[in-house]
Amino acid sequence: MTEMHIVAKHLTKSFGTFQATKDVSFEIEKGKLIGLLGPSGGGKTTILRMLAGLEEPDSGDILFHDRKVNQLPPQERGIGFVFQNYALFRHMSVFDNIAFGLTVQKRSKQQIKERVNELIELTGLLGLEKRLPHQLSGGQRQRVAFARAIAPEPQLLLLDEPFAAIDAKVRKELRTWLKDMIDRVGITTIFVTHDQEEAVEVADQIMIINEGRLEQQGTPIEIYKRPQTPFVATFIGESNQIGDISYLKGFDATALPQAKAIIRPEFIEIGSVGEIPFPSAAEKGTVKNVFFRGTNWQVEVDVKGDRLFAYRSLELPALAPGDSVSVLIHRLYLFNESEHAMQENS
Ligand code: ATP
Repeated sequence: MTEMHIVAKHLTKSFGTFQATKDVSFEIEKGKLIGLLGPSGGGKTTILRMLAGLEEPDSGDILFHDRKVNQLPPQERGIGFVFQNYALFRHMSVFDNIAFGLTVQKRSKQQIKERVNELIELTGLLGLEKRLPHQLSGGQRQRVAFARAIAPEPQLLLLDEPFAAIDAKVRKELRTWLKDMIDRVGITTIFVTHDQEEAVEVADQIMIINEGRLEQQGTPIEIYKRPQTPFVATFIGESNQIGDISYLKGFDATALPQAKAIIRPEFIEIGSVGEIPFPSAAEKGTVKNVFFRGTNWQVEVDVKGDRLFAYRSLELPALAPGDSVSVLIHRLYLFNESEHAMQENS
């Protein structure tokens, strides 16, 4: 049986009349790397701060290892933090920064030296022990911040936009590095990001947070392939929306009444006559725009007044605005107020 490490039950938090967190519940397994993903202002940081004990929920419970921690102050929760601008101590060397939490724990000099050296090696900071923070690159500083956070062996590590201030190339390296580190040290980790690529690449599981609600929790592939809300379907990956699918061949609009449909471009095949394998199952459309995307064409097509984006291989003859085409929709997602479904073209 997998060991549930962190459980949140019905967490609610308001600031004045504004509800920042609305009935958020989740479970996180020990050792997993979790990405909290969503648009700005959605409530990600508030959830992190409640887990940390820096913010008290209005209602709901937080449990670590079956133990309710609602009343426990931050320093007794066994948590490590890395924040975007969580500055290192400016006048302390790399070594002393990493040693900080261990000194607070009153470990012996020998123990501190061993642990810090172990972390310096683990985080690839050998040779930089005596440097001050301003003598390091942004990426090196974040590695020191990470080493400092995990030095006291926390049971949970919280990272709030840890790479936001770092330029794109180093950021990509750092997130691969982080994943590798977490795998090695095995600490349950939650990181906040609004960058979907970052979350999808790094996280074992993603939680999509929007307007204070947890929209969906799952592996990156589950989130992408089985979105449970229209927000998730449009936030992750590319999508087209159709208000009424009753005219589409091969789909059953009555299965989920008053549903809107979301169709990913990769679910749509566009071709001139003879290119589409089952033309009787396809719609007639007119090409409106064609964009070169480097690896394929993006084609905008009009189907009975709906504008759909689809991709087309560069190997196929190019299409041009005004061309009549067949449009074969292989699959779509349906959502109404309370339900969701995926349909394949019959
Ligand atoms: P971002 O990606 O921009 O950091 P977020 O998803 O982390 O956003 P939060 O920082 O959790 O969102 O904020 C959620 C909402 O709660 C925002 O509208 C914010 O203004 C509000 N909020 C957060 N903390 C406070 C506070 N201490 N007092 C009043 N409002 C707050």
